[in-house]
Amino acid sequence: MRVYKIACIPGDGIGQEVVPAGEAVLRVLSQTQGTFKFDFETFMWGGDWYRKHGEMMPADGLEHLKNKDAILFGSAGDPHIPDHITLWGLRLKICQGFDQYANVRPTRILPGIDAPLKRCKVEDLDWVIVRENSEGEYAGVGGRVHQGHPIEVATDVSVLTRVGVERVIRYAFKLAQSRPKKHLTVVTKSNAQRHAMVMWDEIAVQVSKEFPDVHWDKELVDAMTARMVNRPATLDTVVATNLHGDILTDLAAALAGSLGIAPTGNIDPERRYPSMFEPIHGSAFDIMGKGLANPIGTFWSCVMLLEHLGEHSAAAVLMKAIEHVTSNKSLHTGDLGGSAKTHDVTHAVCEMLKGK
Ligand code: NAD
Ligand code: MN
Repeated sequence: MRVYKIACIPGDGIGQEVVPAGEAVLRVLSQTQGTFKFDFETFMWGGDWYRKHGEMMPADGLEHLKNKDAILFGSAGDPHIPDHITLWGLRLKICQGFDQYANVRPTRILPGIDAPLKRCKVEDLDWVIVRENSEGEYAGVGGRVHQGHPIEVATDVSVLTRVGVERVIRYAFKLAQSRPKKHLTVVTKSNAQRHAMVMWDEIAVQVSKEFPDVHWDKELVDAMTARMVNRPATLDTVVATNLHGDILTDLAAALAGSLGIAPTGNIDPERRYPSMFEPIHGSAFDIMGKGLANPIGTFWSCVMLLEHLGEHSAAAVLMKAIEHVTSNKSLHTGDLGGSAKTHDVTHAVCEMLKGK
């Protein structure tokens, strides 16, 4: 029997509630499928670890992860530690350390979810947004001088490399090619950012030649927000830089009903390293520790994890269980206007998997 080694990193806030829920669901699924098993190892890195050790994860942390088949991640972000420390010290360390350059975010309106766009039919909104995940605006290049003085200067320099752009755009074209609509929208801002974004556009044209069967168009990021709201059906697969993708995917999640539902894969397409799967939401300080977090984003991320492992039928079974549960309004958590708790939703998905 195939045994998959999975690293669980709950991190902070509601990450500590939704990751164990995801683990429980995967455990039940492996039992009911009976063709594979999971060997989970949990790493309690994050804010509490930082308070004890002065770092978000051990210096040799990646060594513990590199032989895993996949990583299930919760959230990095602690109310008492600056966000740039928690983010760079844990999540980005893993994403960049393992060169997980494609951040893949599917968005759909799941059954039973009351999405905010009144004119949008469920089938109009079926997107996968690919966010560049290794460079761009989050390259970490920049600095501060004369700190605290009136002459203080600070820079964050966006860095795009030909290799980095080419590989993520090629990944997006391939993904678009694999979907029924075969349509890709390349998000840009080359009217205002006249160096790197112009190279981005040029590379899109070059890579598009390898995919003659994929229709593609280009959209400026500001116009893109309006198109997502006004003409959702004209979009299918989307590729954007790190910052643009970050913002557009939160909008996408909101348009699909809630941040609590949306999943992500941080993918190393070359499979040199483990890929990492996580809900797109953060630590949700306002509800943490109360059992109120919606675990659906984590469960859907588990579906992506299973697909990455090649367990397609198990992935489909879990997705069906998730959709069965979302279609029942009495199992909606607070973010969806309901009063169910994390445990209720998790229990319902597990029971569904058991065929009860
Ligand atoms: P957030 O996603 O934590 O919360 C935004 C709002 O959505 C809150 O009202 C929250 O209660 C609600 N929400 C989010 N997920 C939910 C869920 N599963 N169920 C129910 N409601 C949910 O975003 P934020 O407030 O901007 O950030 C809080 C902290 O999380 C910050 O420290 C931030 O840096 C961090 N963060 C981390 C990640 C990550 O690790 N991937 C992502 C985003 C934010
Ligand atoms: Mn984000």
